[in-house]
Amino acid sequence: MEEFLGQVDIIRKKLEKNRIKFWEDNRKNFKRNVKNIIDNYSFQQNWKIYVVASNFLFDRKIFPFDYDSWSSTNLIAATKKQGFEVMIFLNKARLEFLSVPALIPIIEHELVHVKQAIESPKKYLKSIINDSLSKKIEIEAEKEVKNIDDEFRKQWVLESILYCYDMSGWSFAKRMANFFHKEMENMYGGGYDKGMNDKEFKIFTKAMRKKDIKLFIDFFKIRP
Ligand SMILES: [Zn+2]
Repeated sequence: MEEFLGQVDIIRKKLEKNRIKFWEDNRKNFKRNVKNIIDNYSFQQNWKIYVVASNFLFDRKIFPFDYDSWSSTNLIAATKKQGFEVMIFLNKARLEFLSVPALIPIIEHELVHVKQAIESPKKYLKSIINDSLSKKIEIEAEKEVKNIDDEFRKQWVLESILYCYDMSGWSFAKRMANFFHKEMENMYGGGYDKGMNDKEFKIFTKAMRKKDIKLFIDFFKIRP
């Protein structure tokens, strides 16, 4: 994780210019980037973890703030006869353009679900038909994600908003910011943390008012 944290400053500098190539490079390296992160984790030996990454087959482009950009971790089998298998589905619409540091919070979240599914398959399976249980496992996953350095969350927020800005201007950037600051908490079964804090949202609003995206980028250059 230290190695990935070291990349953050370099990437934030890169984000000031030529971002189109940056998104393209991330997209090209997506598989390798995901593997890079997942290789840092290990799971119980008798379990097989499949990782799938794709888009949904809709006839429109899904943006990272759209409802249909979710990833999920699914229990496939958990008996001696059927084997012990979990599948992680990573939704490219929300992830593909991100750098390694920005991917970390989301991958980590799914990997906590893998751990939950392995530790208690029955409980994990039940969560899909039980709202309070579903919320509970999400809160637990978010709690663990909070333990990793906050710079990774910030990187995810910064890159996602800049990506939307580059694709379709301020209106899309605003939808991404609203997703992080207002919608995320209660989406799906709920239990998620806010993606973006009030201060970050305020800076975004100010940058939008002044039509100066650099104000927003510069804010993230200040490291505590
Ligand atoms: Zn989750």
